[in-house]
Amino acid sequence: MTLPPVPSAVATVLSDLGTVRTWAADFYRDLHAHPELSHQEHATAAKIGARLSASDVELHTGVGGTGVVGLVRNGKGPVVMLRADMDALPVAEATGLDYASTTTVTDGDGREVSVMHACGHDMHVACLLGAVHLLATSRSRWRGTVVAVFQPAEETGDGARAMIDGGLAGLLPEVDVALAQHVLPASAGVVGTHAGPTLSAADSLRITVHGRGAHGSMPEASVDPVVLAAMIVVRLQTVVARETRPGEPVVVTVGSLRAGTKSNVIPDHAVIELNIRSYSEQTRAATLDAIRRIVDGECRASGSPSPADYDLFDHFPLTENDPETTQRVAAAFTSFFGDRSGPMPAQSASEDFSDIPTALGIPYCYWGIGGTDPQLYRRAEQAGRVAQDIPVNHSALFAPVIQPTLDTGIEAMVVAALAWLAPPQAAGQ
Ligand code: ZN
Ligand code: ZN
Repeated sequence: MTLPPVPSAVATVLSDLGTVRTWAADFYRDLHAHPELSHQEHATAAKIGARLSASDVELHTGVGGTGVVGLVRNGKGPVVMLRADMDALPVAEATGLDYASTTTVTDGDGREVSVMHACGHDMHVACLLGAVHLLATSRSRWRGTVVAVFQPAEETGDGARAMIDGGLAGLLPEVDVALAQHVLPASAGVVGTHAGPTLSAADSLRITVHGRGAHGSMPEASVDPVVLAAMIVVRLQTVVARETRPGEPVVVTVGSLRAGTKSNVIPDHAVIELNIRSYSEQTRAATLDAIRRIVDGECRASGSPSPADYDLFDHFPLTENDPETTQRVAAAFTSFFGDRSGPMPAQSASEDFSDIPTALGIPYCYWGIGGTDPQLYRRAEQAGRVAQDIPVNHSALFAPVIQPTLDTGIEAMVVAALAWLAPPQAAGQ
């Protein structure tokens, strides 16, 4: 197969990659060593702001809390949004790297927790900073506007919405497309795209069912919420087994069930916490409906004195890549990366990135880049031990190899952005 030639703008812009490689790697190591939890990305945001200013980029800070936006305005033309998330997780790092995090913070409950960039968001930031710098210093090669969005609080699912609520749209010209990437446990140097539903929608639901408390020896005086909750948990298993079309991926997990304090006291309520994953809004709505119907029905069957309370929290939207947008990104990747670019399966994880393009009413594409040492990955693959031997996101052992992950992430952002940005105006026009 002969590949289409790499557009000359891509080759020229990326010919300066060597000038950003060192500082971008240093920036990455510094972020990795100094992670911050969701909504607390103050030092991270300050470092990003300083770097963008050094790259001669229009800077907006404090968007939706700690969010940072960099704008490279370069004449009339398409407007491309590139997004990176920047928060870390309450995980104690066990990588043994010389730039491993030893950071601890006191959480809301007064407990000391370790903090680690266990999802690779530090890599996303370094890649985007490198890409924006390359685009900002090669303005003669393209026309349009590049919008770099550094989003807080992806892990809590509310950072993207916070930026929208914080006035993100008002800072920007009309955006044409939004692009984002995530480092994954795959061989470093590869990029993968997937059209359509790519990451699941996730919801957490807390249900409180009400009974009537009584002495454990007098069940006749009670409406027992323990039995009620138990019935609900069993009956909820029929949502996926009996109501969902076979082959449609849906998860309904009861992760927490709490009731009572003592063996001889019938409590007056029980709390059930569920996690729900789905790959279409229709399935999500049908699943939530089914849960509600089962809970309300069981409450009636038990003679519950008041209706159940529902609290939907930690909602992550479905990430559904626009097919046309994804095709354009995939074609640009194939042209640049050759056989290092390919299809990626849909992932069971969830993301809140799509809240931004959805609010702006624009198409988007979210792709994956590998972060695992290629040799390590090959050995694990040959031994059939990828699942056992390759640390995944959120693991205390997850840390991408800096190269070729960093180069690939910078290249992917530049290549995809230039698939939209216009060529420079010819002389004399
Ligand atoms: Zn994560
Ligand atoms: Zn992540």
